[in-house]
Amino acid sequence: MTHTPSQRASSWLSDFETALSTGDIHAVTSAFTEDSFWRDLVAFTWNIRTQEGRPAIAAMLRDRLADTAPSHFALEGEATEADGIVDAWFTFETTVARGRGHLRLKATPQGDQAWTFLTTMTELKGFEEKRGDNRIKGAEHGSKKARKSWLELRQEEEAKLGYEEQPYVLIIGGGQGGIILAARLKKLGVPTIVVEKNARAGDSWRNRYKSLCLHDPVWYDHLPYMPFPDDWPVFAPKDKVGDWL
Ligand SMILES: Cc1cc2nc3c(=O)[nH]c(=O)nc-3n(C[C@H](O)[C@H](O)[C@H](O)COP(=O)(O)OP(=O)(O)OC[C@H]3O[C@@H](n4cnc5c(N)ncnc54)[C@H](O)[C@@H]3O)c2cc1C
Repeated sequence: MTHTPSQRASSWLSDFETALSTGDIHAVTSAFTEDSFWRDLVAFTWNIRTQEGRPAIAAMLRDRLADTAPSHFALEGEATEADGIVDAWFTFETTVARGRGHLRLKATPQGDQAWTFLTTMTELKGFEEKRGDNRIKGAEHGSKKARKSWLELRQEEEAKLGYEEQPYVLIIGGGQGGIILAARLKKLGVPTIVVEKNARAGDSWRNRYKSLCLHDPVWYDHLPYMPFPDDWPVFAPKDKVGDWL
């Protein structure tokens, strides 16, 4: 019986999780090809690290498996197959976090083995971003004389931050990376200040040559919380991008 790419990826993830949960590092590394790569962004290593090959994967797990106790590996969407490689996204959890990963499987005489494996941390449990189902209410019903409006609270925060209250994070450079990071930290409730050498956010785009437009189609360039409107030009001009920032 032939299995679909999704069945193959799910079955690999399930065997992988069993090997992890029993602490059987030999069984885990046997599920990888000799020339495999496991790239981890924070989820397992609290760092950005690539383990190249089985011995490096085993060493990382000897160090980190007990602490992370990974579980709940589940396929996200449908896996696909091209040129003999199964490609799949998945979600998982560790003791302290939730994550998302990517898997590429190769069929070998020993069965399906992971060729590339990516694990990324998406959120810490208990510190979920205030978006989607977690968004704040905004409105406060009932009568309360001293209640402050959204504008008043925002002005108060601006007046105090960096003067009476010091930020936890100082971001040097308010280009798109700095702005996006600040927006995400704000949603996590982390007081942050961005310093930018230009007069206005977006000047790093405005100050470039006159005919500059994005090099990629605009739908590759979305920012968190504020995706570009779908009536924007495919290759958005630099000043429009600057104003959006
Ligand atoms: C011509 C061109 C076309 C591009 N097209 C695309 C595209 O189509 N799609 C895409 O995704 N990417 C594109 N990129 C890449 C994209 O612009 C960069 O990846 C992105 O801007 C990097 O963001 P960043 O915030 O890390 O850095 P930057 O945008 O460079 O921001 C750094 C900021 O830090 C400030 N700064 C620097 N030093 C200091 C200091 N000492 N104190 C205070 N502030 C400081 C700068 O003024 C700047 O505002 C393009 C880049 C170029 C040059």
